[in-house]
Amino acid sequence: MAKKVMLIGAGGVAGVAAAKMAQNPDVFGELLIASRTKARCDAIKADVEKRPWFAAKGVTTKISTAQIDAMDVPRLTALIKEFKPDLVMNIALPYQDLAIMDACLAAGVSYLDTANYEPPEEAHFEYSWQWAYREMFEKAGLTAILGCGFDPGVTQVFSAYAQKHYFDEIHTLDILDCNGGDHGYPFATNFNPEINIREVSAKGSYWVANREPELPPDVDEFDEHGVKVEYKKAFDKGWWVETAPMAIKREYVFDEVGKKDMYLLHHEELESLGCNLKGISRIRFFMTFGQSYLTHLKCLENVGMTRIDPVDFKGQKIVPIEFLKALLPDPATLGPRTKGKTNIGCIFEGVKDGKPVSYYVYNVCDHQECYAEVGSQAISYTTGVPAMIGAKMFLEGKWTENGVHTCEEFNPDPFMEELNRQGLPWKENFNPVKVP
Ligand code: NDP
Repeated sequence: MAKKVMLIGAGGVAGVAAAKMAQNPDVFGELLIASRTKARCDAIKADVEKRPWFAAKGVTTKISTAQIDAMDVPRLTALIKEFKPDLVMNIALPYQDLAIMDACLAAGVSYLDTANYEPPEEAHFEYSWQWAYREMFEKAGLTAILGCGFDPGVTQVFSAYAQKHYFDEIHTLDILDCNGGDHGYPFATNFNPEINIREVSAKGSYWVANREPELPPDVDEFDEHGVKVEYKKAFDKGWWVETAPMAIKREYVFDEVGKKDMYLLHHEELESLGCNLKGISRIRFFMTFGQSYLTHLKCLENVGMTRIDPVDFKGQKIVPIEFLKALLPDPATLGPRTKGKTNIGCIFEGVKDGKPVSYYVYNVCDHQECYAEVGSQAISYTTGVPAMIGAKMFLEGKWTENGVHTCEEFNPDPFMEELNRQGLPWKENFNPVKVP
């Protein structure tokens, strides 16, 4: 039976999620798109309803729109109670995660998001804030699905799939996120500029189960990459090995994209995968960046434009990174200009029946094909499609364990089938080139 979903946010990713829900009207009977700027919700509704596939199945998703500031918990709770959705999807920003989880608890509705909570005043993200809601969601008989985009999201589904079908133990995991697309601008970000720049200008880090023997505090520590590091205890299990930003660079030849430089970054799913993969000892995350992006970013950093603290300007306080966001191209407008492909996947090494196994599973997505289908570039597409699939899993009763969960905690098989059906097919390689 078709269900009701409330989608919060009306940016690039929300637009794709809405379009993909409307392609599955048998599951998504009614959709309320609610965001800070109602005009953007109306624009998504109008765009979706004019697509050739909209009425192709004979049934359509009934779409309505509303204005909401998701930080206003009482108003948001009232809106949820009025619409009575089966699921609330937060595809606004990570800053709103906790407010929306509070409103979901107050209204008695389950929750899904695509990025973990990050306080606006601190460029740092981790699961602890949302994991603190576990008992509340369990007691309320509700489900919260965290980080259901591509990375986080599909990377964790890939991990659960690898663990279930190919390994007794996974020892190392490298997540490789390659964007071979070109939008023709000297500098633009493919998703929310503020969140993107905060992520890539932060210190690099990767996760290890055990730390090297501790050295005296006045002695510099170097890791297996020959890079100066600091160890920090992870919240639940293992250690973060922290490096200077972009300190670890590797070159990799990506299927259907070619050779790219990639850099080690901190990423949220490393923390939950460290807790949930059996036998895991190290998890790294690499993302590709072009030279033009890095040169611009360095310059912006050097002049203080990426600062997240307020500064005085003509008698008023402004946050430089917020001002910078206003100047940069809106990621939702990059679709028509972006050409090329993304390739995102996971390389696992471990053992099965006592024998060593290597396994690489990845998706290749074409920017222009995404634009032709739903009017967006591939970064929003590769995030919005998994968000819709996660919602579908919940609404079909396949991912419904009560409590607060990350994507590797659910059965990966039905999600993997949906990736192939809904526009993100995956490929496997049992002899991948390893990342040194
Ligand atoms: P955009 O900046 O394009 O859109 C964000 C939307 O949220 C805007 O419509 C904005 O409203 C709305 N919003 C912001 N604050 C509020 C608020 N207080 N109340 C209601 N609505 C609000 O972002 P993207 O679409 O690029 O990204 C969406 C999310 O997806 C982000 O959390 C991002 O981190 C995540 N993401 C996850 C990825 C993954 O693989 N897991 C990859 C890429 C993104 P307004 O229009 O008024 O500005």
